Amino acid sequence: MSEHARFRRAPVIAALALSGAVAAFAAMAPAPDAGAPVLQVARAEPIELRAVTVLPAASAYLREERFERGDTLAGMLMRMGIASADAQKLIRTPALRTLRPGHMVSAEIGGGGELQRLSYLVARDTLMAVERTADGFHALEAAAPLRVETAMRSGVIVSSLFSATDAAGIPDSVAIQIADIFAGDVDFHRDLRQGDRFAVVYEQITLNGRVVRAGRVLAAEFVNQGRSYRAVHYELARGGSGYYAPDGSNLRKAFLRSPLEFSRISSGFGMRRHPFQRSWRAHTGIDYAAPSGTKVRAAGDGVVESVGHHGGYGKVVVLRHRGQYSTLYAHLSRAAAGLRRGTRVAQGDIIGHVGQTGWATGPHLHYEFRVAGKARNPHGIAMPAGEPVPGAELAAYRLHAESLAGRLALLAVNPLARLE
Ligand SMILES: [Zn+2]
Repeated sequence: MSEHARFRRAPVIAALALSGAVAAFAAMAPAPDAGAPVLQVARAEPIELRAVTVLPAASAYLREERFERGDTLAGMLMRMGIASADAQKLIRTPALRTLRPGHMVSAEIGGGGELQRLSYLVARDTLMAVERTADGFHALEAAAPLRVETAMRSGVIVSSLFSATDAAGIPDSVAIQIADIFAGDVDFHRDLRQGDRFAVVYEQITLNGRVVRAGRVLAAEFVNQGRSYRAVHYELARGGSGYYAPDGSNLRKAFLRSPLEFSRISSGFGMRRHPFQRSWRAHTGIDYAAPSGTKVRAAGDGVVESVGHHGGYGKVVVLRHRGQYSTLYAHLSRAAAGLRRGTRVAQGDIIGHVGQTGWATGPHLHYEFRVAGKARNPHGIAMPAGEPVPGAELAAYRLHAESLAGRLALLAVNPLARLE
């Protein structure tokens, strides 16, 4: 039986016990035209006894508390209303030393404050449970009875992606996945505009009906400056998985639109006015205002051509990619540790951090995209894409994509819908 069912069963038992007691009282009370009250009392007795033995469960309750930073086990147990005799024993239970701030602790507590069972998610998928036995408390670790549910949310951009996902109740990990999925098509640091909107279907992992964490994004739509991009997660028959457009083309592009790592801190900068937003023509690159230390990613797979200081560029990293492409990242505070000429990098690898070395009046990343050594506007170049869904799987993929696309369409009709 799942953990969920186990906890939910308690009120049912309580209800049964109460109705048992009510039945017993009803039977004992002389009915208006009772013919043989003695018989009725006799019949009531076993019911009443059963009611008494089950009744303690009626007053047992489930309590959930978050173990906070600075919390002590004793303090939390007291808050939960656990009897001090039990609390004393629990404090000496070595297994409970695994309790960490942020853990959500569930306890089944009897009417007298006696602890029946206490549990929390000790690792990603492992439950630590301490149960009352005849000779004290017994601790055990077991696979957590987690459930994977599907959540659907949508939102509209007003000031940043994160403020929109916050408003829609979407966790950060999902916001970051959305930015990653569309990173080949949308520059989430510079291209977002008020009124852009999105819809997302994602996995949500629950324990006892409570959301523990968000899982993978299954499908998403992002409408940027009136242009719609759709992505569906798909597992390939040969193994591996990716995000594909409804027609089966790969969302992954040879180059990221923005080399800055998308994070809560860097997300709001692109939509604010700042002194570095000149056109790329003015100085052959794109400037990204961002706090010092923001991570800079390799825009595409490649090899490090150089790492060093170059006058006005300050600390600079240049990557060489296939097909005459190269990318340059300037004004860095530092390059990633161990990065040197010849190092292979994959798209998205962290190659350095934003700074203001060289001729820079504030922390920002100067990014150049070059074709055969000439600076070009990367946003004006059609980027080659990753491999599409193989032809043999296209029919299966479309079937899979259609069901998810239907859910996204439902959200698009009612942009503020929250469907579980
Ligand atoms: Zn610049």
